Amino acid sequence: MNKFQILVVEDDPPIRNLIATTLKTHDYKYLLAKDGEEAILQGSTHNPDVVFLDLGLPDIDGVEVIKRIREWSNMPIIVISARSEDEDKIEALDAGADDYLTKPFSVEELLARLRVMQRRIAMLQPDNDVAESSVYENGKLKIDLAAGCAYKNGEELKLTPIEYKLLCLLARNTGKVLTHKYITQKIWGSAWDSNVASLRVFMATLRKKLEDKNDNAVYIQTHVGIGYRMLKVDAG
Ligand code: CA
Repeated sequence: MNKFQILVVEDDPPIRNLIATTLKTHDYKYLLAKDGEEAILQGSTHNPDVVFLDLGLPDIDGVEVIKRIREWSNMPIIVISARSEDEDKIEALDAGADDYLTKPFSVEELLARLRVMQRRIAMLQPDNDVAESSVYENGKLKIDLAAGCAYKNGEELKLTPIEYKLLCLLARNTGKVLTHKYITQKIWGSAWDSNVASLRVFMATLRKKLEDKNDNAVYIQTHVGIGYRMLKVDAG
């Protein structure tokens, strides 16, 4: 039995059943929610490993559900929506979603995205990487790798799981330029073009949270067309 538990938020019964049957066939545990309020309730009571979230819900919009969940949790959220415009995707990703799948979707792709999320969660486990019991410090940035939290000026940065993973990856390689391909491979387990596009979005949101006007230091440097680098910042 797969230990993984997925919260499926979908108001359309045939699609909900399709996803539930697929998960059951592949030995995943799951919970079902048919609207936004139920999703938030289930999310807070059961703390699922991953959420599959429809955006067009009868009570509150899915983007609002993402924002509400992000107030207290970094649980990975995969949006599954019929909305296929770029701005819809960007809105959902900016609100804190980790991935976006457009309806109609293939069950195989859904499972593949889920496996990516599982790998990523496994990589986030503290015992998985080079004995990371330590604390990373760079200027006013501090990452408690064991606790999985990042701080700036002593205040916790509210990062999504992908933003945190990106930050750790760059921090572990401070001073080195990491290519788009290397980063997407490390974060998503693949280097599809769509991941490179997502990387730009996540990097933008990460920077918005990390770099602030009270601190002149630049932590993440862009190398146009190549990738990104974490710079060593003076403590002063
Ligand atoms: Ca719907």
